[in-house]
Amino acid sequence: MRELIERHAGGVRGGWDNLLAVIPGGSSTPCLPAPVCEKVLMDFDSLVAEKSGLGTAALIVMDKSTDIVRAIARLSQFYKHESCGQCTPCREGLGWVWRVMERMVAGNAAVAELDMLYDVTKEIEGHTICALADGAAWPVQGLIRHFRPEMERRIEEYRGAAVRRAAD
Ligand code: SF4
Repeated sequence: MRELIERHAGGVRGGWDNLLAVIPGGSSTPCLPAPVCEKVLMDFDSLVAEKSGLGTAALIVMDKSTDIVRAIARLSQFYKHESCGQCTPCREGLGWVWRVMERMVAGNAAVAELDMLYDVTKEIEGHTICALADGAAWPVQGLIRHFRPEMERRIEEYRGAAVRRAAD
């Protein structure tokens, strides 16, 4: 992956050390954090071993200026919009996931909801007619798997601000 990005795609904006994460297979696969991107090979088995996938092999490279929670929430909105509505887990689940992700962007959530969000994406995965719902579930799973501390930080920050507002 590093060779593909550095040698053939112009490199990471600001240099390799400014890499935050890569979504390796188009928008529908779980993101991988920079330390994994350093070593992982761009083939089916290697990416599956890192709990992601080759997908379309169209990399989305995110540097450290990226708000990755917002970026994944935007993908949730896209997939919710694209749902054709035939399958209940996709029709109902993707809207729920998107709404929760929007709250995660703001930090307006409880830490316990991170596990709930992950569990719901696992219920959506594999329970629909086509792969669109899987493609919606996986990016959220990757976010929670690799960037949970950032999501928890936002929740703490939001709570702290709310406490300060109440005290004023
Ligand atoms: S999983 Fe596919 S077929 Fe089912 S509602 Fe979503 S887009 Fe439609």
